[in-house]
Amino acid sequence: MKIARYLKSGEPTIGVVIANKYVADLSPMGLDSIYTLLEYYPKSIEIAKEVVNDVEGVNLSTFGEVEFLPPIPRPPKIICLGLNYRDHAEEFGGKPPKEPMLFSKAPTAVIGPDDEIETPTKLTDYEVELAIVIGKRCRHVSKESAKDHVLGFTILNDVSARDIQFKDKQFFRSKSFDTFAPIGPWITTKEGIGDPDNLDIECKLNGYVKQKSNTSNMIFGVYDTVSFISKSVTLEAGDIIGTGTPSGVGSMQKPPKFLKAGDELELTIQNIGTLRNVVV
Ligand code: MG
Repeated sequence: MKIARYLKSGEPTIGVVIANKYVADLSPMGLDSIYTLLEYYPKSIEIAKEVVNDVEGVNLSTFGEVEFLPPIPRPPKIICLGLNYRDHAEEFGGKPPKEPMLFSKAPTAVIGPDDEIETPTKLTDYEVELAIVIGKRCRHVSKESAKDHVLGFTILNDVSARDIQFKDKQFFRSKSFDTFAPIGPWITTKEGIGDPDNLDIECKLNGYVKQKSNTSNMIFGVYDTVSFISKSVTLEAGDIIGTGTPSGVGSMQKPPKFLKAGDELELTIQNIGTLRNVVV
């Protein structure tokens, strides 16, 4: 099941995606925002399932009638893994980390599908990532029970200002400029994702494939990652975890290719969809 947030007649609404063509409004079921859905998770997912199973009489909109919004407009936290694909660690000239390497992005950097990415420096770069969406608060959770605390998955573009990343001693500023966290186009629930550690992942820049891999190439899998983070930091409903990016980022192209005004990015992950943004 796919949970989308969108503008319908100017009002933020949540719904489920039907047949990759329509969204079914969940607000008549009392689910008036993504935060309400999270508050009543996992019961809210059972309610949404009833809508999917019986769309007769449900208020459907076509994709053309709505404007998709970031599935979580202001996550409590955005935590990311650095160098979680061996080939990306190698292109950066580093060794794969022995345990997950964590950094964070400012929640105010979030934008949604088709929103514009700003380029505050000339060395702004893209990174396609599978993002975990936490559904239920957890702390000190095992790998086995981590799944119970995950709502689902979306796509994150971990936009990065490389000049600042390499100049500062840590990543926060370079990863946190406004517009540097496009997420979407919606959340695929964990029941609908298949094996999250085996999904094709790709990033196209102006129609050309720049990154192409599979999440099976991640060093640390998604539930290992949730368990690991929860041993240091309490995870809360709505938190987003970026699981790292494969090789092919712009700064490691020969010659390097950074984002510039007019560029179009299309990030695709199997069983989720495509997150498109343009650069200004
Ligand atoms: Mg990244």
